[in-house]
Amino acid sequence: MELKAGQQTGNSSPAKCAWCSGSGKWNVAPGHSASCIVCGGKGSVSIYQPALSCEQCQGTGRNKTIRPCLVCAGTGWESYLKK
Ligand SMILES: [Zn+2]
Ligand SMILES: [Zn+2]
Repeated sequence: MELKAGQQTGNSSPAKCAWCSGSGKWNVAPGHSASCIVCGGKGSVSIYQPALSCEQCQGTGRNKTIRPCLVCAGTGWESYLKK
């Protein structure tokens, strides 16, 4: 196996986006929805394996406020693939 600087190796596979619960939609306000800001409307995010739930938000993707968890960027996963 070859390791290159700045390039992460390992398997990544799609996992459910916690922010939108896999729906791909973000309910901005009652009656208003937009594409999920975390997964871009796909409903899933690329997670490096082994997939670990985010400890900060316990996999919910939310912190105490309505904003996405800063640790996992709202994905609910600790080892999410940064775009
Ligand atoms: Zn999403
Ligand atoms: Zn989190």
